[in-house]
Order: sequence, then C-alpha cells, then structure tokens
Amino acid sequence: MTLSEGAIYSLIDIAGNNFWFEKLQNIYSEIPHTTCKCCGKCCKYAPRVYLIEYLQIYKGIKERFPDRFYQVIRKVLEFGFLSLVDTSLSCPFLEEGKCIIYDCRSFNCRVWGHAKEEYYYISIDRARKELEEGRNLWIENFGIQIPDAIVYGHRPFCKDVMPLKGSMLKTDKRESLERRLESINSQLIKGALGTYEEGVLELPVFVCLSFIGPMMFYNSRPYIMEEYQNNKKSDFMDKLIYDSLPSH
Ligand code: SF4
Ligand code: SF4
Repeated sequence: MTLSEGAIYSLIDIAGNNFWFEKLQNIYSEIPHTTCKCCGKCCKYAPRVYLIEYLQIYKGIKERFPDRFYQVIRKVLEFGFLSLVDTSLSCPFLEEGKCIIYDCRSFNCRVWGHAKEEYYYISIDRARKELEEGRNLWIENFGIQIPDAIVYGHRPFCKDVMPLKGSMLKTDKRESLERRLESINSQLIKGALGTYEEGVLELPVFVCLSFIGPMMFYNSRPYIMEEYQNNKKSDFMDKLIYDSLPSH
C-alpha cells in the first residue's frame, strides 16, 4: 500500500469526489454522544482505524495545526516505533488529558464506552490475546521482551460513561454502522489502490507508513525498540524521524 504524502492527497481527492467523507460523517452522526469524567485514562492505546478514517484524520490535523503539523506527526511517529516498549506512552493524540483530534476521531474512539461490561471484557481478552501472540513473535524473532504493562495494561470497564440523551449504542446498530464503514473503506481500497488489502491499521502505523515508508519502518523498528530498551532512548529513531520530515 503506497501512502506517501502525495498519495494521500490523491486518495483524499478520490474520497472527496465520491462523497465518502460525507458518508463517513453520516455514520458518525448515528453514534449517540456520551458524557463522562474526561480523565483521559482510557486513551492509553492508539485506535485501529480504517484507511478512509486515516485520510480524514490526516486532513483534520493539517487544518487544525497548520503551525505545528510536523510536531504532531513527530510525536505520532515516536509512538509508532516505541508503543510496544515504552510503558509511559499514551495515545499520541492525547494532550493534557484531551484528545486533540476529537472532532475527527475514529469510529472505534466514538463507540468507546457504549459496549456493555460483558462485551467490553470479551474485546479486552481478544486484544490481550493478540498482544500475547505478538509478544511471542517479538521474542522468537528479535529477542525483544514486550513488558506486561503493555500486554495487560487495559483499564477496567469504566462505569462513568452516560448517554447525553437517549440510550447507548446497541450492539446490532454498532455492527450495522461498522458494515457501512467497511463498505466505504473497501470501495476506497479496491477502487483507488487496486488491491484487496485490509486497510485497517493502528493509526500511528498508518502515519509511519506515510512518513517513514513501509520498508524502513518495519526493518528499523526492531533495532529502535532494542536500542530504546537498552538506553531508554533511540538516537537512531531521532535521526530517522528528523531526516524523514520535510520541515524542522
Ligand atoms: S471513559 Fe472513563 S476512563 Fe475514559 S476518559 Fe471518560 S471517565 Fe475517563
Ligand atoms: S484518538 Fe483521541 S479519543 Fe482516540 S484514543 Fe487517541 S486521544 Fe483517545
């Protein structure tokens, strides 16, 4: 999947011409608004997003932060490299307890808090299983140990989320909205990119593919993680990010 900055602008044009951003907004508008204590503690892990959402978030960051666009991107790139070894990290879009892309946040961020407690723990178990499998691969292939605080760092179910009005999103409604989102995303992928790739990734990984490039990102990540675990910093990562961003 080619996601260079130039390719992103072409994809944004294609999505705009096909009214896919409007369709995305229509889906979001059917998710009831909620209220909570806004402590920000549930934003430890970055969300998995659809490609169409990545395009919208990319546009949103450009529009909202014209003066510090690359500063925001730098933080996201650091998260992309270090999220599996630096236990102090939270989602890179969380600043002073607030989401800086709140207006254009992803479907997964919007439906957060709507799940019933039982379903919440089922999805946490699934996420932990994936992380455990990933941890085994990191040890086997690179000798890198992913800390327990990352594999099992999910917060307990939050009981402070309430609908602003009406009721919470029902499971069947959520599934139907997600099917519509998948449909837009697959039209974008098949139509614009000509592939059948899944097109769903952790948001910071999309950003790393755009600014670092897939080969450099996947090849350098193990070295950077190891360097970070040994020194609590990675000079290689700092230089790679510096060299990859057009403005300093
Ligand atoms: S949902 Fe709960 S944990 Fe997340 S910000 Fe709101 S109060 Fe905090
Ligand atoms: S994108 Fe925003 S709402 Fe979603 S996890 Fe990050 S900080 Fe939280």
